[in-house]
Amino acid sequence: MRRFNSYADYFRRNFGGRVQKIAIDAGFTCPNRDGTLSRGGCTYCNNSSFTPSYCTPKKSITTQINEGIEFHARRYRRAEMFLAYFQAYSNTYASIEKLREIYDEALQHPSIVGIIVGTRPDCVDSQKLDLLAELRGQKYVAVEYGVESCYDKSLQRICRMHDFAASRRAIELTSSRNIVTGAHFIFGLPGESKEEMLAQVDTVSSLPVNTVKFHQLQIIKGTKMAEEYENFPKDFHEFTVPEYIDFVCDFVERLRPDIIIERIAGEVPPRYLAIPAWCALRNDQLLAMFEKRLEERKTYQGRLFLDG
Ligand code: SF4
Repeated sequence: MRRFNSYADYFRRNFGGRVQKIAIDAGFTCPNRDGTLSRGGCTYCNNSSFTPSYCTPKKSITTQINEGIEFHARRYRRAEMFLAYFQAYSNTYASIEKLREIYDEALQHPSIVGIIVGTRPDCVDSQKLDLLAELRGQKYVAVEYGVESCYDKSLQRICRMHDFAASRRAIELTSSRNIVTGAHFIFGLPGESKEEMLAQVDTVSSLPVNTVKFHQLQIIKGTKMAEEYENFPKDFHEFTVPEYIDFVCDFVERLRPDIIIERIAGEVPPRYLAIPAWCALRNDQLLAMFEKRLEERKTYQGRLFLDG
């Protein structure tokens, strides 16, 4: 028995085997970049730092899926089932007709067992969620929201151009349609103390989410965040590795026990990082350290969860 609700086990339970995500860039943009809300984007954003090489909107979705499957087959253990992961930018930011066409192409691929759609909370509405709920009748459908923080002061500082209420609203609308709903959070945003980061756990637990992803703040070269770090380093709580692992243990032992934890840290190629620090450690190494620490502390997800 693992001491937390792991994503890999969740997929094994749902699909009876290993499932691999294939990242897709369907050519979407984002209202925080195209001038609708702003042109600057979130201060930490640089999509190229987490986009695999096969993934480009110059190729069709089918080609990206085929090349993604080949890419993963060459590098990692063989998976027989694949999920198309619409990852780059805001993947619900288009007309209903366009969205249907894009999602359909992925769902029709014979090796694809479902889609995961990453987006901003302010880029969904009832019509778009109804479409996703309809597609759920064919294959697995999940939506992942970049929530990043439960604090409006932090969302303002990183120029998200939406507040936490928008995240809660989107998550509730999605979950009410029985679509698998995920949320992404960043630990270490400027202006947040460690106590404030931890205090978010009750709010996170109160959201009707199925899955969560946690990332340590990774400052990417050339971003506004890198500039901010240079000018105001004291505004950033920089975790050491052991401190971060212990922090995630503290968070997870207070977290609602049924929430599936997809990841506890992010992984960006070191060449992109403005502050290389420990972030160059691979995710599987960090995950192993996390599980070992849970065991040492004789704790587990939800041990200190306070219902209601
Ligand atoms: S919402 Fe996402 S894609 Fe848009 S600027 Fe922010 S991080 Fe970048």
